[in-house]
Amino acid sequence: MLNKEYSNLKPSYLFRDVAQRRKAYQQEHPDSKVISLGIGDVTRPLPAAVVAAAKRAAEEMAHVETFRGYSPDQGYDFLREAIKNYYAGHGVELKLDEIFVSDGAKSDVGNLSELFDSSITALVPDPVYPVYVDSNIMSGRKVIYAPANAENGFLPAPPEGEHADLIYICSPNNPTGAAYDFDGLRAWVDYANAQDAVIIYDAAYEAFITSDELPHSIYQIPGARTCAIEVCSLSKTAGFTGVRCGYTIVPLELVRDGVTLHSMWLRRQSTKFNGVCYIVQRMAEAAFSPEGMAQARANLEYYGENARILGDVLTRHGISYFGGKCSPYLWMRCPNGMGSWEFFDALLSGCEIVGTPGAGFGTQGEGWFRLTAFGERESVLEAAQRLDKWLD
Ligand code: PLP
Repeated sequence: MLNKEYSNLKPSYLFRDVAQRRKAYQQEHPDSKVISLGIGDVTRPLPAAVVAAAKRAAEEMAHVETFRGYSPDQGYDFLREAIKNYYAGHGVELKLDEIFVSDGAKSDVGNLSELFDSSITALVPDPVYPVYVDSNIMSGRKVIYAPANAENGFLPAPPEGEHADLIYICSPNNPTGAAYDFDGLRAWVDYANAQDAVIIYDAAYEAFITSDELPHSIYQIPGARTCAIEVCSLSKTAGFTGVRCGYTIVPLELVRDGVTLHSMWLRRQSTKFNGVCYIVQRMAEAAFSPEGMAQARANLEYYGENARILGDVLTRHGISYFGGKCSPYLWMRCPNGMGSWEFFDALLSGCEIVGTPGAGFGTQGEGWFRLTAFGERESVLEAAQRLDKWLD
């Protein structure tokens, strides 16, 4: 009666275990002031332009002339136009029809796997954002891994001589902070086109990119329109983690088995999803306005400075790390050959800092550790000071 594939999911203990160990430590040390560098959530408030748009839209809903009910299936044109313009800013031409507004990247990444047959093979990097693996396991699909490690800069290349049908790429990456350059991403696009595979490209952290050498969108790569679906969101771009608004691009040229994936996704969304709140879509539109973008950018720079502060401490102590630039994540090698959980405990008892053990993101994450640059400056400075002293 039940979907037996759920029994193949590995239990997801990572954040529960982190919380339990932290709680146990705090119970034993009631005066402790534990700082978390483990959160994957934004802390800066919404841009003022976004809040002003929310107020205006809420007021519209109070009057019969401007009240709105259900949103159009793919989102309001005003927001899709704003998204289209945003892509144009990166040199990517999209058709309005190719843009689907959603309630965030997580649901779209998970739901997209419904478009594919259970007999195909999904390829995901290891370590990885767990949704890619779990949504494919739920669909009964075989999952193979592309190992990411220090040797390949945590940016695995396509596997030579191995076939995959569905490929997940996240750049800049959670958890490693590593980001593909144009050549690195081109290799995947070429591989996908040659294999008739489909790439699901998770661009949730693209707004952290500050280098012209890194693509913001997979559609900056020639050939991507025939093999890639891009998922993105305003969660990290403009602090929308609690507001909920994202978007997915399905190019009209993307065809497999003689069927456009665009038509399938439209059918899927119009059957099972009823759109994003009008007020939220107005907020998202405001986030893409020049004023909203400047305010959002100030928050991203704030996190960037947090990352720099933490990265400087690691560099000073000769600890290698990836990310920290063009990403809110610092992926550090655990010092002295320690395992991920061993380092977690040492860091907690040694300087009352909580991070996330890399082993929790995949087997290749063992011996690595994720610190995040989300957080308020005061606690990041305090954490940096404690870390500096402790590592001495
Ligand atoms: N994709 C990646 C790689 C993430 O790390 C996250 C959230 O942490 C998401 C997607 C989820 O984004 P959203 O808030 O838009 O659902």
